[in-house]
Amino acid sequence: MLLQIDALQKSFGKLAAIKSVSFDVAAGQVHGLIGPNGSGKTTLFNLVSGFLSPTAGQVRFRERVITGLKAHAIARLGLVRTFQLTSVYPEMSVAENVRMGLHRRPAGSSVSSSARVQELLDMMDLTSYHDTKAALLPAGSQRLLSIATALATSPHMLLLDEPLAGLNPTEKAETVKKIRSVRDGGTTILLVEHDIKSVLSICDRITAINFGEKIAEGTPDDIVKDERLIEAYLGN
Ligand code: ADP
Repeated sequence: MLLQIDALQKSFGKLAAIKSVSFDVAAGQVHGLIGPNGSGKTTLFNLVSGFLSPTAGQVRFRERVITGLKAHAIARLGLVRTFQLTSVYPEMSVAENVRMGLHRRPAGSSVSSSARVQELLDMMDLTSYHDTKAALLPAGSQRLLSIATALATSPHMLLLDEPLAGLNPTEKAETVKKIRSVRDGGTTILLVEHDIKSVLSICDRITAINFGEKIAEGTPDDIVKDERLIEAYLGN
């Protein structure tokens, strides 16, 4: 297992936001984390990526305990996160944004910078925007740029925070396709996403939480039939 989350807990004062959640993410998969508003998804993402430290429990990445490491140290190990609001530099060009990502990758990568930038732009259909200011991109392309920038670091795993939020149906379909091709290129993905229909179509496996507890886990086919999940969504 690439990522192992073991009995993770997080309390904010008296509020137990995450109450002993455990699940694993297998290499080569798109794994979805779903749950109603306030169920603890963002908190869990913050715990895994090092933006929060847990009250108890352990996170292991590539067999190494990463609990308590700072976000930048976790990113350096190849577990890289994008944010809900696109994490691009609006005043820089598309190519410069990706180049910024390249500078954060581990030393010793052999491919030349411009070749790698070009490869990532091609992969995300951004080649025609090479010199365009990021701020001027359509929302869907901006989202793909934030994924390209994260990929520039050559991560083992990407954490995508609501990659489809605010996109129109065409842009959503395009982004779903790209997320699949990122996985097929060998990068494992853990994503939080509200659009359940897209989650079911994109994910190999899904973990559902509610009130800080895991309530269901399985393939999309398993999960749609799960009574606790149906109840969690209909009950809210
Ligand atoms: P989700 O992402 O699923 O909507 P969150 O992880 O944001 O859920 O929130 C889970 C619970 O933890 C909510 O009750 C929220 O109010 C609470 N919470 C989140 N962050 C904090 C914080 N920094 N301080 C206090 N309570 C928080």
